[in-house]
Amino acid sequence: MDRFIFSFLLATTLLPLTAHGEAPEDVTLIAEANEIETQIDAHAADSVAALRLRLERKQILSNTDTNDLTIIDTLDSGNEALRVILYSNNTWKYILDREVARDSTIFEKYWDTTTLFPYREVDLSELPQSIVIELLDSVTSYHCPYQGTIHPNGKFGPRRRRQHQGIDLPLKTGDPIYATFSGRVRISRYNYGGYGNLVIIRHDNGLETYYGHLAERLVEANQWVEAGQIIGLGGSTGRSTGPHLHFETRYYGRSFDPERLIDFKSGVLCRETFLLKKSFFSIYSNAGQDFDDEIANEEQDQREIAEQAARRYHTIRRGDSLSSLAKKYGTTVTNLCRLNGIKPTTVIQTGKSLRVR
Ligand SMILES: [Zn+2]
Repeated sequence: MDRFIFSFLLATTLLPLTAHGEAPEDVTLIAEANEIETQIDAHAADSVAALRLRLERKQILSNTDTNDLTIIDTLDSGNEALRVILYSNNTWKYILDREVARDSTIFEKYWDTTTLFPYREVDLSELPQSIVIELLDSVTSYHCPYQGTIHPNGKFGPRRRRQHQGIDLPLKTGDPIYATFSGRVRISRYNYGGYGNLVIIRHDNGLETYYGHLAERLVEANQWVEAGQIIGLGGSTGRSTGPHLHFETRYYGRSFDPERLIDFKSGVLCRETFLLKKSFFSIYSNAGQDFDDEIANEEQDQREIAEQAARRYHTIRRGDSLSSLAKKYGTTVTNLCRLNGIKPTTVIQTGKSLRVR
């Protein structure tokens, strides 16, 4: 197995810090516990039970929007990597000092501020069947990227032979878009492949979130961001048929359904710990997003709506026949049969409705 992946998986399982900011000691403790676990089966069973508990569904609300607040003080936490920030409305939160707590595994390896998919050389067949990903700990908070209803055609997965790598959330141009978790901006640029103004953030657990079609980008590549920080304004740039946020969640470049993590309608995060299974990845997902799907779906929908609107019906009266109706509506018996799924020999009944166009 690639040494990077291995240490990476270890890192993601060991990542959680305690609420009291004693991260280094805790990590050592957990590492020691893991060593013991490999020797004692009973202990391993305990940890599976604990993991199961952590994987349960939760309802985690977005953290307070601090974008309009001013910071009134910054305090030491007792851990040099953590600072406590006090805001003007008396709320507070932990902020990780990225210079102290720099993670070279996640934020330097495969770090590319121009290429959308930098993981191509990673052999994903080496990836285990399932990976435990910590979404939240005492420092990593959450904010819904955009609370709204997913467009009926904007769900993740295949639709009409094409593959949608994310979800589409209709919005008003200029609506704020938030960083889902804290992390570092890997990409902030205009993408000519269809995303338009695109921001990609890599998070502490290795997940990446993609925010496409933005009217405006408010962050730069390599910048550290906090969950809930406004990273851009929603729009319709790139290959888009109307203002919406195209949102993707990826791990090692592979996309999976963001609805596994977030209920966008209520804005809640569904879990603290996520068991990402290899089977969640779509077979196309190591490739880029093909925005033709969104355009094609929209065009097909419009054709269907137009066709629906153009339909005409006739209520059959005594004396009507297929041939007299074909003549009356300027069509053919064959056409009438096709539209109604009947045969030329079918006896049409008075009072029933017949589609004539
Ligand atoms: Zn989309």
